[in-house]
Amino acid sequence: MPNKLSGCDLHVHLAGSFYAEDLLAIGAPIFREVDWTARDFLDGYNAALNTKLNPVQLFAEALENPGAGFPKLKAAYVFGSEDSGDFEKFMWKYRFFSHVWGYGWEQGRETAVAMITQAVDHHKRQGLDYVEYRAGFWGEDEALRQKMQICAEALAAECDEMFTARYIIPLPREEPLSMYRATRQLLQEQPQLARIIVGVDLASREEGFPPKLYRELFQQMNRDNAAFPDQQLTAVYHVGETFFDKSLESAVRWCHEAALLGAKRLGHCIALGLDPAVAVSRRAKAHEAELVSERLDQIAYDLRFAAELRQFGVTVDEKKLLDEQQALLNRADDWVERPYNPLRFKEIRLRQTFVLAQLAEMGTPIECCPTSNLRIGGVPDAEHHPIHRLLASSAPLCLCTDDPGTFDITLASEVEWVVQHTDYTAESLAQRLGDPRRFQLC
Ligand SMILES: [Zn+2]
Repeated sequence: MPNKLSGCDLHVHLAGSFYAEDLLAIGAPIFREVDWTARDFLDGYNAALNTKLNPVQLFAEALENPGAGFPKLKAAYVFGSEDSGDFEKFMWKYRFFSHVWGYGWEQGRETAVAMITQAVDHHKRQGLDYVEYRAGFWGEDEALRQKMQICAEALAAECDEMFTARYIIPLPREEPLSMYRATRQLLQEQPQLARIIVGVDLASREEGFPPKLYRELFQQMNRDNAAFPDQQLTAVYHVGETFFDKSLESAVRWCHEAALLGAKRLGHCIALGLDPAVAVSRRAKAHEAELVSERLDQIAYDLRFAAELRQFGVTVDEKKLLDEQQALLNRADDWVERPYNPLRFKEIRLRQTFVLAQLAEMGTPIECCPTSNLRIGGVPDAEHHPIHRLLASSAPLCLCTDDPGTFDITLASEVEWVVQHTDYTAESLAQRLGDPRRFQLC
């Protein structure tokens, strides 16, 4: 009987799935050949972490004298709780592996497949039976499609009656269409991969990229799904994870808008569960300023959902909103600043409740990644973790790891974390969440 909660991970980045021991195993034959200065890796890492990293020495020592050497390699790679809150540090530690990963891909198919097998085997040993991996690649046209094909085939080769792997292709928000087209073209050329490549993900930097930018992409995807019924792609969407570029009302709205676009699952949605008073306490003047265009979108949204918002106790003064809209119309590239007060906090909490109820109605699950939120999502501590609000709502919810290797966590340890830090027991949590496999893409 598979473990209901700790056997199925729906939000995992493949390049974040390598544990320190995997880094050592993959790096062992190549660490002396890797150019560690390429792409400013060493300089960037040392500046961000205020250290003098010597990767060759770390690998050599970890191999010659594992007792003393391996913990040093691990400390240089794992993004632990002591690093929390510093996204810059996270990116450089993440790149420690990416550097080896990139070098491995240059060596050709065999090395690439061996690396993927390393990560998937680790997941199998942990007792996982279903994982949807996200892995983005680089290169032009054929070289790009070739990497995606190798990845899909390597994941397909890992599937058996005990384990299922699926592949989600991340689309860069700046320019999602070319990666989307490459995915479609790959499926046309290799239709057997449609079994493995099941979706795309709006990923990477979220700030500055409102959901409205992707309306056309979703329409295109729907048309293509209708035209190629055997090659269905569904979208998942990272949203409400980092949102210092805007007001809290807008951050809450973006989560709703991503679901309205047709995203099948939403990654993180910290904005729906983090208390507004806590959110603004994270930085000086946090969330007070936003682009006039955001404020205008918020006004349009409040007018559209006026009746529904009122049902949840949110005040919507249409006359006032229309006047504000009129006053802002010719200032779309300007910024507005609106400070917070207790009444506004109260209304934002009601807006969170409203959107969580909407997600419940639409059946759109939130992928909650507890440790990731604490270490890179700007959540100050366990007590103020968004998961408390998310669990208390009726929104569908699943627990995921995001980058289990980089954080040195497992899905089982995430489930355990929730049991430890909430009022739920293992049984009541399993009951609240249900089987996450019902949210899988296919
Ligand atoms: Zn993620």
